[in-house]
Amino acid sequence: MDIIWRERELSYFTEDDDAAVARRSLELLARDEYDVLVSYQQGYDEWLHQTQPRSPECLAEMRRHIDDFVRLASAARQRWAGRPHALAFLPDHGSHIDPATGLGTHGEDIPEDMELTHFWAVNPRG
Ligand SMILES: [Zn+2]
Repeated sequence: MDIIWRERELSYFTEDDDAAVARRSLELLARDEYDVLVSYQQGYDEWLHQTQPRSPECLAEMRRHIDDFVRLASAARQRWAGRPHALAFLPDHGSHIDPATGLGTHGEDIPEDMELTHFWAVNPRG
């Protein structure tokens, strides 16, 4: 995910795992040096390719991603109180079961992979 913006004048922080991503995101939020923070986690995707989209492992990762988002969103709302801001929870792709392997995958031009729900909270007054 972070390679999308490589070669641009941005700061990149690539971490070893999702817990480190959450910690780094909270740290960056507290430092308040950036106008945009993108915090990408990949636990669901890793389990997707080893199991299936709604496996217990995938659902546990999805819940963890939501919990981390709630923590980040709460910290952002406190940090940016009084300033216009937007929060977004944006899955980067959907998933389906590969009939050849029986495992989860993505990247095809099909509704399961392409049609996503994105969640926005726009606070124009802060
Ligand atoms: Zn993947």
